[in-house]
This record gives sequence, C-alpha cells and structure tokens, in this order.
Amino acid sequence: MCTICGGDYVVHTPVEHGYFFEPCPQCGEQPQEEHEKEFAELYKQLDEAEARNKEKHSA
Ligand SMILES: [Zn+2]
Repeated sequence: MCTICGGDYVVHTPVEHGYFFEPCPQCGEQPQEEHEKEFAELYKQLDEAEARNKEKHSA
C-alpha cells in the first residue's frame, strides 16, 4: 500500500484553516470509478449510523 496516502489517493496537508486535500503525488488522482465506490460506501455508512441513532433515540 502507498505510504504517502495509505491507499486513499489523497494527501491531507495541514494549513492555516484546516486541511488542504491534494491528489497523492505517487498514486495520482483517484480513478473516478474508485471515487464513486468510496462515496457509495461512505453514504452507506452514514445511513447506517443514522439508522442506529434513530434506533437508540426511539428505544
Ligand atoms: Zn498514494
């Protein structure tokens, strides 16, 4: 696995007001396909977290 981005294709550089996101200099830009897959996964996790939250509150 890439040691610069850890397989994320993105490097987080701390800047004055937070983080600056750059494509990994070693891996280059994340392929669109990978990006969509990751987004889908992220939204799935958010949905699941939200569902769990609702369960907790209604219980
Ligand atoms: Zn990389």
